[in-house]
Order: sequence, then C-alpha cells, then structure tokens
Amino acid sequence: MVTQLPDPIIIARRVGGVRLHTFISAYTQDNIANATHIIESENKLVLIDGQFLVPYALKFRAYADSLGKPIDRIYLSHRHPDHWFGLAAAFCDIPMYALAETIEFLKQDGATSLADHWKMGNLAPDSVPMPQEVVSAGEETIDGVRYVFDQVVDTEIDFLLTIALPDLGVIILQDLIYSGTHLYLTQTMEHWIKVLQKILLGDFDLFLAGHGVPADRNEVARNIEYLTVAMDAVGTGLVNDDFKHFMIAHYPERKCPAIFNIYMPRLFGNARQF
Ligand SMILES: [Zn+2]
Repeated sequence: MVTQLPDPIIIARRVGGVRLHTFISAYTQDNIANATHIIESENKLVLIDGQFLVPYALKFRAYADSLGKPIDRIYLSHRHPDHWFGLAAAFCDIPMYALAETIEFLKQDGATSLADHWKMGNLAPDSVPMPQEVVSAGEETIDGVRYVFDQVVDTEIDFLLTIALPDLGVIILQDLIYSGTHLYLTQTMEHWIKVLQKILLGDFDLFLAGHGVPADRNEVARNIEYLTVAMDAVGTGLVNDDFKHFMIAHYPERKCPAIFNIYMPRLFGNARQF
C-alpha cells in the first residue's frame, strides 16, 4: 500500500521570513494524496493535520524536525481519520488544537473509528489523539503571523476548521477543496457549493487543500463545477458503480479514485458516518 516513490514536498509560498510547506502522501494504489502543511515563521513552526498512514505521519514529522525550529502547535482541521490518525503516531508531544466538536467526536467515537480500521494493521496508530486546546472563530497572531480561524458547517464534513493567513493571500481549506483528485462527496453538496462561491469572493490567491497540491482560484472553481455535475448525476438517479464510472469518465484527469469506495457506502447507503 505504501509506495517507495519519494513523497512530494512543496514550498507553496515564501513571503518575507515566512515559508509555507506542503507534504503530500502518495497518489498511487489506494492512497489519497493527503496534504498536510507547515507554516514556518521566524522562530517556530505551526502544523496543519497529521497525515493518515503511520509511515507518512513519521515522514511528515521528520521533515518538520529537519527545519530546525520548534513545532509550536498542530491544528486538526476535522474529524475524518485521514487527518487525525497520524497525530497519534507522530505528534503526541505537540500541543494539539481543534474545534470543540472535533474534540468531542474523538472522545465519543474516536476509539470506534480506529477499531473500524483494523484491516490497516500497523499502518494505523494504536491510540486516539486527544487535542487539549479548543480553537474557535477569531484572530490570533503567532510569531508575527496573523491567523484568522473560522468554522464551516455542513460541507465535506459537519464541522471544519479553516485558517486564513490574510497577509500572505493564503487560506488553508483542507477538505473544502480537493486539488487534482476526486472529491469525497456528501449529501450537502448544494451548501458546499455556496461556501466555495463565497470563498472565491475573498482576496486569496493560494488555497491549501487536504488532498493534492496547493491550488489556485481556477481549481476552486473546478471543484464547484465537479460538485454541480455530481449533484446533477445523483439527481438523475445514478448510484454506486454507475455513478463512479460516470464521474471517472467525466473527470479522467483527476487522481485517487480510491475515494469513491470510501464515501459511496455513506452517500448511497446507510454506512456509519465515520
Ligand atoms: Zn481528507
């Protein structure tokens, strides 16, 4: 499952003394190009999400450590396991921040979610991480960098943390967009489209995704189009493999089709929401 290809690390932006790094796990086989990020300011590092599989979490940690600055904190964007499994594997010693709803999920259902992934063997961690710090909508300056936090509801996930860096023209959207890969679809696509349209009205020109490479405004627009096509396809009655084949035929350039098998039991069936 884990490829031996070198993992892409991208310096997405450099402004003054601030650098943004994006670490992406593999695109091959069943991997879903999980993207996690580092905001490197003058004296410290702030990390976003912890990767999915243990080997990638450890590589992401090793890369962060190689920058030679202390990791001040790590933000967890939402409760999907491909974002928090790696936290337990590689970041237990780092202060973790998350929305109150995300922390509550980990307390109530984290162990069940982990147990549901037993087939992953030692690619999954052996414990559930527990963020100690609650983050809510608002603004904070960390090591000279202005961060604006917001909570987005009912899109790819019920509760999602977004982090804007307004002085850099950057917003970290994680799974509000999928960059160059197939999206994880939910029953709230109509609202999701409205949220993306509103984000495009802002001044940002770089959008960090939870899957795939850092994106431009065109990729955000393409996500809106993808959601529109998917909604129409569902509206015409396409389900399961018929739906999957339709979307892959419509978007042959998008990578990581493994995501269909993850979300379709929830979109078209009554599989557990986590
Ligand atoms: Zn994800």
